[in-house]
Amino acid sequence: MSDTDSDTHDPAALRTPIVAVLGHVDHGKTSLLDKIRGSAVIEGEAGAITQHIGATAVPLEVVSSIAGELVDPDDFDLPGLLFIDTPGHHSFTTLRSRGGALADIAILVVDVNDGFQPQTLEALDILKRSQTPFIVAANKIDTVPGWNVHEDAPITQTYESQSDRTRQRLDESLYTIIGNLSDQDFSADLYWRVQNFQRNVGVVPVSALTGEGVPDLLAVMMGLSQRYMKEEMEIDVAGPGVGTVLEVKEEKGFGTTIDTVLYDGTIRSDDTIVVGGLNDPIVTEVRALLQPRPLAEIRTESRFDNVEEVGAAAGIKVAAPDLEDAMAGAPVRVVRDRPLEDVIAEVESELADIAVDTEEEGVVVKADTLGSLEAMADALGEAEIPIVRAEVGDVAPRDISVASTADDAKQRAVLGFSVDVLADAKRRAEIDDVKLFTDDVIYQLVEGYTEHVEEIERAQQ
Ligand code: GDP
Repeated sequence: MSDTDSDTHDPAALRTPIVAVLGHVDHGKTSLLDKIRGSAVIEGEAGAITQHIGATAVPLEVVSSIAGELVDPDDFDLPGLLFIDTPGHHSFTTLRSRGGALADIAILVVDVNDGFQPQTLEALDILKRSQTPFIVAANKIDTVPGWNVHEDAPITQTYESQSDRTRQRLDESLYTIIGNLSDQDFSADLYWRVQNFQRNVGVVPVSALTGEGVPDLLAVMMGLSQRYMKEEMEIDVAGPGVGTVLEVKEEKGFGTTIDTVLYDGTIRSDDTIVVGGLNDPIVTEVRALLQPRPLAEIRTESRFDNVEEVGAAAGIKVAAPDLEDAMAGAPVRVVRDRPLEDVIAEVESELADIAVDTEEEGVVVKADTLGSLEAMADALGEAEIPIVRAEVGDVAPRDISVASTADDAKQRAVLGFSVDVLADAKRRAEIDDVKLFTDDVIYQLVEGYTEHVEEIERAQQ
């Protein structure tokens, strides 16, 4: 969708579905995105690919040329697919849970050799909670012994050409994955046998390395969106922009900026916006909307093009004053055609939904995004571990101070999920005898802390 489309005031324009890629580390999320991006660049004519911050748009005609006869563009009126580039990003833990979309659909990548792993289960948990439709990419099929490569071919074709023994080996892995999904209450099957993708999870064998199965993967994503998500893709193109903060970043010359996924309306360079902040909603004015420049054009000048206006769905960097306390995973709303107070109230109520209940006493929890903070709180709640303070951000000396006031030795702890520990905080923790736990996998983090508690309890007996 080009920027000028918003002038048509078409009330029922359809936006691009936003796709998140999830899965365990090393199962091939980045490689799969690279493959899709690479194919899109090869197949797309110059100009067909718009640059996005944190996302790659693959227009329908490009999807169709990668997918070949599996996608007839005449069968679709959705404009393509927008892939979020940071796989495994913890903002995904909010996905669609609050009506607002960070992602509409997801690809869960599972290595056929390695099967289900902790982060696969965590991803499934998120998908279940947010009721996000997804398909499984059973990746690395090229590593099955005896595999006969057919670069970029549909899986049906490449599968047929394998020896019986090779096919059998692959089948075993695929049925294990289907069984694992069923253990998690998802009814799943090989995608070519799935009738109703809304009720069944389609498993698509792929290789991110050779491109086999990628045509099928795109065709299934496109079909799933067109068949089941069309209504949700209806947007008010000229309406006030609605989005989610993907990341908060320092940008030379622009100060603190927010990388934003816009999923409704438009955002303009002079708009007033309300952004979810650490303390209160932040009200500020857009100073610049920044789009990445194509690599070839970057010399010594800015890496970005300044644009006047962007319409959903898009990934855009927003530069504005006072964004220091903006939180990844928080809502972004343009104030246009309605009172500022209403927009602030909306952002507040969205944030209140995510807010974590804290107790008088408990551990301190830090996480990289709102979504991951919420997921941490859920996991700790299940383990009956109370929380005294929960915040987005790196572990800072303040957190140590709070933890050090606990009377119960078990609660003199800070649990950090996907965050750094500031050097000062590390020193303070040693001095104040506060235990620090950090990890990128929630269950390992909780397990680490639980073991520590057990040790203390044993020592007390
Ligand atoms: P991520 O952590 O999930 O993003 O995984 P990466 O995309 O970084 O992949 C991890 C490793 O697996 C890298 O060494 C990749 O080259 C390799 N890899 C990913 N996909 C495939 C595949 O389809 N076939 C093979 N043979 N290797 C793959």
